[in-house]
Amino acid sequence: MKLELTGGKLLTHEEYRAMGYKCGLEIHQQLNTEKKLFCHCPVGLVYKEPDAKILRHMRPTLSELGEYDGTALMEFKTRKEVIYQLFRDNTCTYEMDDTPPFPVNQQAIDIAIEIALLFNCSVVDEVHVVRKQYLDGSIPAGFQRTAVIGLDGWIPYKDRKIRIMMLTLEEDACREVSDIGHTITFTTDRLSTPLVEVITCPDIESPHEIQEINWLLAEVLRSSGKVRRGIGTVREDVNVSIKGGTRVEIKGVPKIGLHTALTHNEALRQRNLLEVKDMLNRKGLQKREDFGFRRSDVTDKADWKKFIPTLPDGVFRVMALVSRGIEEAINYPLQQGTDIASEIGGRVRVVACLDRMPNFMHSKAEKGNFVPVETWERLNKELKTEKEDTVILVWGSQKDTETALTEIEDRIAELAKGIPNETRQSLGNGVTDFERILPGPNRMYPDTDSSPTKITAERIQRIKDNLPPNPFTIMAYCDEQKIPRKITEKILKKGLGSLFYSTVKKSPLKPMTVAVFIAEKLPQLRREGHAIENGNYLWVEELLCSLEKDVLPHISALTAAARAYLSGKAATPAEAVRAAYHEDTPEEAIRSEIKLIAAKNEIASIVDRNKKTRAIMKLLKDKFGSFTATDKIAGTIDTLINTK
Ligand SMILES: [Zn+2]
Repeated sequence: MKLELTGGKLLTHEEYRAMGYKCGLEIHQQLNTEKKLFCHCPVGLVYKEPDAKILRHMRPTLSELGEYDGTALMEFKTRKEVIYQLFRDNTCTYEMDDTPPFPVNQQAIDIAIEIALLFNCSVVDEVHVVRKQYLDGSIPAGFQRTAVIGLDGWIPYKDRKIRIMMLTLEEDACREVSDIGHTITFTTDRLSTPLVEVITCPDIESPHEIQEINWLLAEVLRSSGKVRRGIGTVREDVNVSIKGGTRVEIKGVPKIGLHTALTHNEALRQRNLLEVKDMLNRKGLQKREDFGFRRSDVTDKADWKKFIPTLPDGVFRVMALVSRGIEEAINYPLQQGTDIASEIGGRVRVVACLDRMPNFMHSKAEKGNFVPVETWERLNKELKTEKEDTVILVWGSQKDTETALTEIEDRIAELAKGIPNETRQSLGNGVTDFERILPGPNRMYPDTDSSPTKITAERIQRIKDNLPPNPFTIMAYCDEQKIPRKITEKILKKGLGSLFYSTVKKSPLKPMTVAVFIAEKLPQLRREGHAIENGNYLWVEELLCSLEKDVLPHISALTAAARAYLSGKAATPAEAVRAAYHEDTPEEAIRSEIKLIAAKNEIASIVDRNKKTRAIMKLLKDKFGSFTATDKIAGTIDTLINTK
């Protein structure tokens, strides 16, 4: 299935199912604690000059089984220098791996248990800290401390369940500042911030479902009210595979909107890679030896400076690799705008650190081939190639070109095997590029520095007793009350589910009125410039609960009351409501006057609703004088006109 077949469009849900599309999510959500997970440093990011810098080199160590992990070896091959930027205020010797961890932050465990319960997980009896190997330098210790908190959860979706495999509590890694050539720089402010990782089973059946499911998962996290909000506080990895394919992990998906395109493209990439594999296997290419790789130094075979735009300054080498049988494969399209050659370029970029693109060229390139035909012909002659041979050129330092050639040979040999196990990075346009080899299963081992924390039944019960309503409870309630989904979603998206649910249970107002006030009027008041603090909504509850019974009008009068309270014109929300409901003029009197006015010929003939409201208002003022809340009258008029 090449890309022309889809024309860059999504397939149908059934077509993805037929492909065997499977997708799961890993959501990393930072928790709103004061301190870090294993030390007493405060949580928070800083954007200032670092107080100190530390330079480190990473080395792989043998696992307990006496093997090197694939990722570990790959990271070692990159020969990176890692620079850490330190800040006096929020980094201590723990983060830099110079002292063992302090006891694990109990506030973080409580929040993680609460979130696990919201996801219907069973909570573990004991929290055991383990080490997860991390060799890209983003954690100075070379491993991340992580602990399982919940298992076997689920959320409802359509007529099925999306299963939650596991919920873990772990420390965040460093923020990457830059990654150029052999130097990678990290800043340590984010390091060791507590986060939960929610891992779903591969229960997402097509790219059409992914955004909605992702939103639901995020809503459960937010419903706790104890997670950090804002840029960088949530990061997601997406796992995708198809029938006959391999689980590929797309790392750090920045925007929810990208999930659909990314997983669609990854499914196609896997399908196309399987077709390339069949194509090569049919030609008898199965093993590495079948490709007949030959390397030659061709540095002095041409004036390369004339053609290659990305040659390094100073001394360089240009190396040629001859490969048999890939003349069709190398241009085979994979994702939108990428082909097998792009896969090779990605590996060379990451592993050999040749990151000025283009970082290689091949003799079968259809477009953008910047090496002239005569040069290729001369090279072919010199290298004694045959028709089905492809020549690949790489350039750089001696060491880098050697690493690059080995990587290119590896990647070509993998084409005959299928889809390599790897993590890929999102390029921001729905397309991915190689990031690293997927870590092996042996990257976890016990942390001998931390003692286990027993989770008592009483502790779980205490958290259960104070559990906020999860979004599914709220959605079910809103559906029952016939509140439009758009309004429900607005309430949830703004993290106001708890406020809505607790208010609606106490307020005499109709649930719809409470919902519209919270979903539409609160944001409107904020836009008008009123200071409305996130999380401090006690006044809203008081405002919406201070009427004794359900009397008209609502939304506009309530908004006027909120305005009066927020601008200091009323001392309490209840007082503002009393004033807005204009107790001196009985509601019935206003209503019947409106009815009289509306029946007048000159008013009845006005079609435009706003104009009509204004005209009625003017006549009302003549009758009653000035009103404390004209909004209230407008609301009543609107209701009466509408119900006619
Ligand atoms: Zn610290």
